[in-house]
Amino acid sequence: MTATICPETGTPMKRGVAPMTISYKDQSAAFEMPGWYCDECSESIHTSADLNVSDRMLNRLKALQKNKRTVQLAVTTGSALSSR
Ligand SMILES: [Zn+2]
Repeated sequence: MTATICPETGTPMKRGVAPMTISYKDQSAAFEMPGWYCDECSESIHTSADLNVSDRMLNRLKALQKNKRTVQLAVTTGSALSSR
C-alpha cells in the first residue's frame, strides 16, 4: 500500500475511521467512515472501497424509507401510533 499524502499540508495520512452521519429524506444514520485522515488538518481522502461503505449506508436508508412508507400505510388503517 502506498502512502497517501495530504494535498493541503503534505503530511502522510493515516488509515482510520471517523464518525459520519448521512441522511436521506427524513432518515439518517450514523456510521464509522473509513478513509485516509490527516493529523494536521481536517482533510480526508476516501478510496472507492471506502465510498462503498457510505453507498451501502445510503442504500440501507433508502430501503428504510421504503419500509417506513409501508409502515405508515399500516398505521393509518389501524390506530394512530406515535413513537415520539
Ligand atoms: Zn492535512
